[in-house]
Amino acid sequence: MKTEEKLSIKIIRKIVFISIILIFLLTIGVKASKSDVNYVTITFPEDYEITVMTSSVLVSDILAENHIIVLPDEKVYPEENSNIDFTKTITISKKTEEPKIVAEENISVSTEEILGKYITVTEKIITEQVEIPYETITKDVSTAGTETKDTVLQEGENGLKEIKYKVKYQDNQEVERNVISEQILKEPVNKIIQISTKIISRSSSRNQTYSPSALEASVAGMTPKVATLNTSAYCACAKCTGKTNGITSSGAKAKEWYTVAAGSGYPIGTVIYIPALANKPNGGWFVVEDRGGAISNNRIDIYMGSHASAISFGRKNLECYIYE
Ligand SMILES: [Zn+2]
Repeated sequence: MKTEEKLSIKIIRKIVFISIILIFLLTIGVKASKSDVNYVTITFPEDYEITVMTSSVLVSDILAENHIIVLPDEKVYPEENSNIDFTKTITISKKTEEPKIVAEENISVSTEEILGKYITVTEKIITEQVEIPYETITKDVSTAGTETKDTVLQEGENGLKEIKYKVKYQDNQEVERNVISEQILKEPVNKIIQISTKIISRSSSRNQTYSPSALEASVAGMTPKVATLNTSAYCACAKCTGKTNGITSSGAKAKEWYTVAAGSGYPIGTVIYIPALANKPNGGWFVVEDRGGAISNNRIDIYMGSHASAISFGRKNLECYIYE
């Protein structure tokens, strides 16, 4: 034999060997898939059920394997000459009963769909006109005058808007209402009031100080409530108050080292003494003159003349003597 022939025989042998292995593996695979074992639930009339292990898929085969005989007054679902379906359930029921068909779990039927079959659902588009209430704006023109006087500069007038709703009714009962559109027919006119607040002492300097001794004297003889309050500082800037006029909730202009914002638990006019701030221009004496969105009853905010000083004050828990 020539060496070339020897080589080709070697190659053919190799190919045959690999093919045999492949065929062997395929046969195992097919056998394995044919002998797939299923767990099938068979339910009988009167809610009795069993689960059997079977490699068959034909209903009659599975019943025969388990020695189950369908009586003349009974019926089978799926039918005996068909294969079991994805629910892997065979239901035997009396011919007078409806067969209990197990629904696929993935099919979700919404409550609305079910209700819709029994209840008439109607939808209507409804248009309503709603008044827009006017806002009252106060302008503080405090002067050194001695009289408090409020002047109405502009009368307020309510606006009007038209709202379109999509309303859903079930048996004539409204069950859902969604706004489709809103149209302003008339803008409200704000009421503007000018206030002149009576101010007793007034300093022309920027760093106004208000007599701590007067505050101290005003609470003489009162017993303070002592509490540790989370204390921070704010200024009249938009960042701190959302406006820039420095007018407090009480209507008074905020004053540095005097005005504090406190929660509704402390009435406007409440005097607060903070011993830790006794070295400050106000000697540690403050008056509640303002409120704030983020202010709760265990927090107070001290008014400062600049944002920088408010920031540098930071936040600290300080002992407070509260004179309500
Ligand atoms: Zn600020």
